[in-house]
Amino acid sequence: MGVTAAETPRGDTPRTETPLTAPGEILHTGAAEYPGLDTWRELPLKQQPDWQNHPDFDSAFEQLSANPPLVFAGEVDKLKRRLARVAEGEAFLLQGGDCAETFKDATADRISAKVKTILQMAVVLTYGASLPVVKMGRMAGQYAKPRSSDMETRDGVTLPSFRGEIVNDFDFTEEARIPDPKRMVTAYHKSASTLNLIRAFTEGGFADLRAVQQWNKGFMENPAHARYEQIAGEIDRAVKFMDACGVEFEGLKRTEFYTAHEALLLDYERALTRIDSRTGHPYITSGHFVWVGERTRDLDGAHVDYMSRIRNPIGVKLGPTTTPETVLALIDKLDPHREPGRLTLISRMGAKNIRQKLPPLVEAVRDSGAKVVWVTDPMHGNTITAQNGYKTRRFDDIMDEVRGFFEVHAAAGTYPGGMHVEMTGDDVAECLGGSDVIDESAFDARYESLVDPRLNHKQSLELAFLVAESLTRVT
Ligand code: PEP
Ligand code: MN
Repeated sequence: MGVTAAETPRGDTPRTETPLTAPGEILHTGAAEYPGLDTWRELPLKQQPDWQNHPDFDSAFEQLSANPPLVFAGEVDKLKRRLARVAEGEAFLLQGGDCAETFKDATADRISAKVKTILQMAVVLTYGASLPVVKMGRMAGQYAKPRSSDMETRDGVTLPSFRGEIVNDFDFTEEARIPDPKRMVTAYHKSASTLNLIRAFTEGGFADLRAVQQWNKGFMENPAHARYEQIAGEIDRAVKFMDACGVEFEGLKRTEFYTAHEALLLDYERALTRIDSRTGHPYITSGHFVWVGERTRDLDGAHVDYMSRIRNPIGVKLGPTTTPETVLALIDKLDPHREPGRLTLISRMGAKNIRQKLPPLVEAVRDSGAKVVWVTDPMHGNTITAQNGYKTRRFDDIMDEVRGFFEVHAAAGTYPGGMHVEMTGDDVAECLGGSDVIDESAFDARYESLVDPRLNHKQSLELAFLVAESLTRVT
């Protein structure tokens, strides 16, 4: 069984090239017999629900295995080429989206707000870095969550922890918390409709540079953001200048936009792995880019083994306990052929740690000669508990970690390739601070995240402006 995709539409300028329709005929077949794709089942496997004996497990797995791929191998390969440019210092990577997507929020409004915010951030960063920005959403598949404990106790009642809506429900009842494999099928369909909308938006004119610039003017109208007037004005003049020069804006109406999620739930990833019949190689087709989290990156564990066998560009999160030896061993295992764009290292050290903990890793990788993409995740090392009990992060800590990341790379003579943030396009109150200040008193009314706190729309844009400012000073 396979899928035939239409020929990629070609415009009249190189910028109209789009990755999200398959280049030429791309056939994917199931991966039932492919050697090595089930080795992970024999290895230490963390953070999974115990559901193999659930009466619906086999039918859910079979259904997913027969479903069409969500992304095409040709698109995935193109992303790898884009990331190869990032590794060379010729582009910047922006990854952003929810900590955990939810089924209920897979709506047109929420998805468009998120895509819009990422596009707005990308325009600001493109200007700041004077480089192309590779845009990627933690979207259309970010449904599985690692937890610090398998069980959760409230008022003397102990139930399985919430592991993301692809596994169970957030409500604290026994019925909600029992893992249900049918949820994987729902997550697939939610991802398909999310991706469908993303493709429509980013190929259908929504990404028009002039429109994105207009939205940024909305942000600038808020007096709290006056300090970004200079850079916003410069971008505006640049766009007007292009217009006056007769730049063909048709080509700038479309943009490449890739999807990413943590490859945590291996039953789901295995069921959506397909063999690309052009090359005979296995690809995870649940998203373009997948990463291994801080809790599952054990060298001899199931997750790293599975990632070593698929051909997508992949990421690995690196927390403050990571040693240079571990990083070099991860590179050998995950990118043995030193393939450009294959491996992204996502550092999440915490603002307090980054200036001490990151340099030995960056230097070891530099000295080994391996070419990786280095990205900062300034969120996961900066989580605190607010006085009123909410899990939160301070905007200033997030920005401090980003600054530390740039400093470390400047000192090592390496390239700070990108930024990975938890954000939303909505006006939530989950992270503290920002110029249009969010404080704890707003949490009760506007805290929505089921897991980690996200930057809201304004905080996300503000972060992009601040990063752009530091980049313009460097370039
Ligand atoms: C995440 O990205 O939501 C996450 C759980 O990150 P980490 O693996 O870095 O803790
Ligand atoms: Mn998170």
